[in-house]
Amino acid sequence: KKLNIALCGLGNYASMLAEGIQVSEYCQLAGIVTGTPAKAEKWKTKYNIPENNIYNYENFDEIIKNKDIDLVYVVTPNGLHKEFTIRAAKAGKHVITEKPMAISVKDCEEMIKACNDNNVQLAIGYRLHYEPTHLEIKRLGQEKVFGQVRYIEASLGYKIHDPLDTKSTVNFNDRHEWRLNKKLSGGGPLMDLGVYCIQVSRYVLGEEPIAVTAQFGTVHNKQIFTETEESISWQMEFPSGAAANCNTTVSYNIDRFYASADEGSFELSPALSYGPFKGKTSEKELKFPVINQQQTQMDEICKFLLENKKLPNHITGEEGLKDIKVINAIYKAAKTGKKVSLK
Ligand code: NAD
Repeated sequence: KKLNIALCGLGNYASMLAEGIQVSEYCQLAGIVTGTPAKAEKWKTKYNIPENNIYNYENFDEIIKNKDIDLVYVVTPNGLHKEFTIRAAKAGKHVITEKPMAISVKDCEEMIKACNDNNVQLAIGYRLHYEPTHLEIKRLGQEKVFGQVRYIEASLGYKIHDPLDTKSTVNFNDRHEWRLNKKLSGGGPLMDLGVYCIQVSRYVLGEEPIAVTAQFGTVHNKQIFTETEESISWQMEFPSGAAANCNTTVSYNIDRFYASADEGSFELSPALSYGPFKGKTSEKELKFPVINQQQTQMDEICKFLLENKKLPNHITGEEGLKDIKVINAIYKAAKTGKKVSLK
């Protein structure tokens, strides 16, 4: 049997997930949840979705009666992850929700509780946890292959489309406008992209940050960055004494990772985007096969669910919550100009 997935929110990333699910061994796209009737028609034809497995945001709770759906994958704007995760959990469905898990610590805690109360499992869409180059840098760091890592640099950014640019030919789906709306996004690039820099620092070191300092970058486009930051830099201190220096932006393109350890170093660029990743250590090039990240993530998660096994800790809601706590501390540090403790 394959696990039956319903995708909720049919935007850009849902389309990438659908392609991954199409070629996966352990799951299949069985349903959709969308607020746009035209998208429902398009997806129904493209992926051969039965009419009974198509929901909108109003009738979504009826999914409780649908034995054809095992898991709901929430791919909506961040501010809506909580609502759809809780509604799916109450309908008795396992849930994967996209990163960042939610826009507040309280929301994450409510999501975890709803999944526990309804005996369903919750995973976060951390695709890099299954990517071979990332598994290798995690091993290099955690197994101290080059000794203790002392310093990390991680940056991820891209230039966002300006919705006020009337000459733009960018199509509606690529406009990312909800990303500029704090209620829907929870924040700017720190929420969207910075979470990857936090993640990679945490899994390369195998440690949790104990304190952060942070600085907002210059706002170049005051008309569109009224609610969310354009850029932010931050520093994390870890119990071993290691430090991470990170940057994220929607003002320019950047995608880098670097780790300096006592007896060597390792680095990637591109590092945190969709890849393919390119990297080296102080000794040799890092060469790993290019994989379908969405397919691999889905297969690895669904294998566990099909066997009724508990999901590994590194992708659960508790892991997503840890990142939101760090994000909160970074915003607090940037706003106050003071070091914020996470102990
Ligand atoms: P998108 O704008 O392309 O898609 C969002 C979808 O949500 C659209 O179909 C839209 O119609 C729907 N939606 C429902 N209610 C909405 C509302 N009130 N306002 C706006 N849209 C609404 O965005 P995306 O890039 O697909 O991002 C969706 C989620 O996936 C986000 O949480 C994002 O962080 C995450 N994401 C993850 C990855 C990854 O690599 N894991 C990559 C991209 C995005």
